Amino acid sequence: MLSMTIDGKPAETFETFDVVNPATGKVAATAPECTPAQLDEAMASAAHAFTTWRTDDGVRRQALRDLADAVEARHDELVALLVKETGKPLAVAAGEVASVGPWIRYYAELEWPHKVIQDDETALIEVAHRPMGVVAAITPWNGPVGMWSWKIAPALRGGNTVVLKPSPFTPLSTLLLGEIGASVLPPGVINIVTGGDALGKLMTAHPTPRKVSFTGSIGGGRSVAVSAAQDLKRVTLELGGNDAAIILDDADIPVAAATLFAFSMFNCGQICCIPKRIFVPSSRYEEVVEAFAAAAAATKTGDPTDPTTTMGPLTTKPQLDRVSELVADAVDNGARVVAGGKPVEGAGYFFEPTVFADVAEGFRIVDEEQFGPAIPLLKYETVEEAVQRANATEYGLSGSVWSKNVARAKAVAEQLECGTAWVNCHAMLPSNAPFSGAKHSGVGVANGEDGLLSFTEQQVVHTARG
Ligand code: NAD
Repeated sequence: MLSMTIDGKPAETFETFDVVNPATGKVAATAPECTPAQLDEAMASAAHAFTTWRTDDGVRRQALRDLADAVEARHDELVALLVKETGKPLAVAAGEVASVGPWIRYYAELEWPHKVIQDDETALIEVAHRPMGVVAAITPWNGPVGMWSWKIAPALRGGNTVVLKPSPFTPLSTLLLGEIGASVLPPGVINIVTGGDALGKLMTAHPTPRKVSFTGSIGGGRSVAVSAAQDLKRVTLELGGNDAAIILDDADIPVAAATLFAFSMFNCGQICCIPKRIFVPSSRYEEVVEAFAAAAAATKTGDPTDPTTTMGPLTTKPQLDRVSELVADAVDNGARVVAGGKPVEGAGYFFEPTVFADVAEGFRIVDEEQFGPAIPLLKYETVEEAVQRANATEYGLSGSVWSKNVARAKAVAEQLECGTAWVNCHAMLPSNAPFSGAKHSGVGVANGEDGLLSFTEQQVVHTARG
C-alpha cells in the first residue's frame, strides 16, 4: 500500500479506506486514513521546514527543477495509478502527467517581480513579496496530478511549505507524488495526507496554515471560506463552472462543432472549464445538432487501458448517479435525445456520450453543472439574447465564442461574465495565463505570475532619504 508522506518519511498507517476503480466498480486499492494527530505532525513538520525553505530563492528554484525531473522519471507509474483511480483513458492520463514537469519548470524559471514605485531624494519605496508560511492545499478527483502541480509549484516557489490532501476518491497518484517529492526536497516541504472531507475541514480550521488553496465544488469552497475566515487565513478557491460556448452564425460549423464536442466530452465531461451549454443560432441549429450526433457516434467508450478508447467511465459512483439524474430529468421534460441518454449496462461507471437538442433554461442539465458526458444545445435568435442567457447564472468560470470573424467574436467574448473568455478555442490553460472564476466560480487567482503572487504577502519597504 502507498503511504502518506509526513516530514519526508512514509507515515505509519492505522486505518485505511477503499479506492474503487471506476472502470470495474471494484475496490482496486486501499489508502491510509490520516489521524488528527498525524495531521498535527504534518503541520508541525511544514512549519519547521518553512523556517529554512523561505530563506533562499536560488535553492528553491533548483529544487523545483529537480522535482520536475523526478516526476518525469516516474511517468509510467503515475499514469497507471491515475488510470486506475480515475478511469481516464491512457492518453488523457499520460497528457495530465506529462503536463507536470513543464508546469513546475515554468515556476522555477519565472522572474520574481520587484517593483520600485518611488526612487528620489525623499524616499526609496519598493514593493516586495514575502512567503506566507504553511499552505493547506486541497484537490478534487477530476485531475489529481495536474491539480497537485498547480498548487505545489507556485506555493513552493513562493517560499511556502505545503500540507496537501487529495480527494478520497483518487488518492493514489498523489501518494506516489508525496514519495517522489520526499526523494528530492527537504523533509516537511511537501506533506501528503489522505482522508475524507472531514480531514479537509480539520485542515482549514487548523491554526498553522496561513493560506488555504482549494479546488472543488462551490459548496466545498463556501465551507472552506467560512472556516478560513475564523483566523483570516488567505484563500484561493477554484470552483465549479457552467461554461457557455456561443457559436455565431458565421462560424466554421464543422470545426466549431467537432472541437466543442471533443472538449465537452473530455475526461468524460469532468473538467471545470469545458463547454457545458452550447448556444447555437437558429439558422444553423440542425447543422450543429447533426455534427454533434455524428461526433457522439464516433466516440469509443470503454476500457480506459485500451489505447483505442476515447472516453472512459465517470470517476465516482455519486457522479454517475448525478449525471443519470440530470439526464433523466431532461428526458422526462421533453428534451430531444440526439445521442446517448443512459448509463452503459455492465460493470463500471460508464455513461453514453449524450447530446440534447430542444432544451433551454429551466432544465437542470442547463441550469446546473453536469460534470459529465451530457451536453445541451440551446437555440438562440439574436447575439444579445445569447450573451444575456450565457451570463444568467451564478457561475462565471469561463466561456467561448466561435466565428470566422475574429473581431466580431472577440467583441462578444468580452461581454461574457467569466474569468477566461476564449475565441475559437476552449479550455486552453497555459501555465503563464492567470486563471480565476468570476461570481460563484472562485475567489482569487491561480496560475501565471498572479498565481505565484497569490502565495505571497505583499510588503512595502519604505526607506526614508534626505
Ligand atoms: P468537492 O468539493 O466535493 O471536494 C474537493 C476536495 O475538497 C476533496 O479533497 C474533498 O475531500 C475536500 N472537501 C470537501 N468538502 C470540504 C470541506 N467542507 N472543507 C475542506 N475540504 C473539503 O469537489 P469534487 O467533487 O472533488 O470536485 C468536483 C468539482 O471541482 C466540480 O465542481 C469542478 O468544477 C470543480 N473543479 C474546479 C476547478 C477549477 O480550477 N476551478 C478544477 C477542477 C475541479
